[in-house]
Amino acid sequence: MEVAESEVRDGEKIKLIRRQLALLIHADRCGKNVNQSDGEVHQCSMPLCSTFKLVLNHMTICQAGKSCTVNHCSVSREILAHWRNCRSRRCIMCSPLKENARDYYERKRILLRRAHG
Ligand SMILES: [Zn+2]
Ligand SMILES: [Zn+2]
Ligand SMILES: [Zn+2]
Repeated sequence: MEVAESEVRDGEKIKLIRRQLALLIHADRCGKNVNQSDGEVHQCSMPLCSTFKLVLNHMTICQAGKSCTVNHCSVSREILAHWRNCRSRRCIMCSPLKENARDYYERKRILLRRAHG
């Protein structure tokens, strides 16, 4: 069964991409909570959070693009480019994460509405 075999292979690859995408999204949100001017240390339990925060930081100044040799940089760039451009609700790579993101913004919206009475 050739089809089933390739599906399994893709499944493993997609799991890895999804994991990295989840980390990137987390690090992006998590980083915004850090108030460095206060000198406050934001404690995060996510093991790779600080690593991906550094990657995100690096990506904003990176000029090397696809040929960059910094860990996670070029891969993360590709993954994020897909994430931002993907409009498919059934994309096996990012739709589970899109659901989470939607929940997150929905909850925030409800909280804001409540705060305004
Ligand atoms: Zn974090
Ligand atoms: Zn780079
Ligand atoms: Zn997608």
